Amino acid sequence: MKPYRKLALLLIVALLYLNSGIFVARAEEDEKIVPILMYHNIVDDIAGHDPGANIEKENFKSHIRAILRAGYTPVKLSDYCDAVKNDKPLPQKPIVVTFDDGYASNYWIAYPFLREFDFPATVFVVTESVGMKANGQYYEHFTWKQAKEMDESGIIDIQSHTHSHKNMGTLSRGMRNMEFRMSKYLIEKNLGKECKIFAYPYGSYDQETYNLGYLAGYEVQLKVYDVDSGEDYLANSTKDGLENLTRLTISNDLDSEELIEFIRQAEENTKNKKIEKKITKTLDNLSEIE
Ligand SMILES: [Zn+2]
Repeated sequence: MKPYRKLALLLIVALLYLNSGIFVARAEEDEKIVPILMYHNIVDDIAGHDPGANIEKENFKSHIRAILRAGYTPVKLSDYCDAVKNDKPLPQKPIVVTFDDGYASNYWIAYPFLREFDFPATVFVVTESVGMKANGQYYEHFTWKQAKEMDESGIIDIQSHTHSHKNMGTLSRGMRNMEFRMSKYLIEKNLGKECKIFAYPYGSYDQETYNLGYLAGYEVQLKVYDVDSGEDYLANSTKDGLENLTRLTISNDLDSEELIEFIRQAEENTKNKKIEKKITKTLDNLSEIE
């Protein structure tokens, strides 16, 4: 390519970059960027517990209050999926809160607190561990009776996080099928509702497994990280469908102010990533013309 043509091309790209933000804002006014937060267990005092998988009770409560103060409207994951699939409206600044594994603390601490604010959340339960008592290695898990009470309240939506919390990527096809189908069967039998959403333990995921999950009846399957980049700092766009929903790992290391900043940053990253994709596409088109 001749130097002046290169310069012209660069100028075009620069102009496109500047315009793309405006273009995105104008053309996709109804697009919403939606963060999905992932919590696990809640403890009274973090001392002696892994701050990555546990959050102190008071810190958790301050997170929830801060989310509401920042103007977010919590939506159920199933409602978010319904809105994306059927092009239904969502409230301003929607946010989704989820808990993994099915700890008893979700029932004793999160559920009554969230109910006070009419704040919906989704719990991804490991069906084999339901009702498990605390021992040296594991925390107590809620029972099916407690799960049913939460699910029927309309505040907590219970969905699947496998039957035995194994790394799906390491299992045979038959075992992966068992994990999908056994957990779905037990949730539906014990809670008397349909289970259509699945969250992968350890973010372990590949296309063949996704297809098995789909055939087992899951309409939506969530990973932890962004599938392409492995990055754990993105929100989701209502324009991107439901195939690559990603969640933000929330640890006790974030206080309420840092949480809001973390969420804001994830939203910003998501918007930038969309602009980057648009520019790459434009560049590809331009190089074809060249
Ligand atoms: Zn898990």
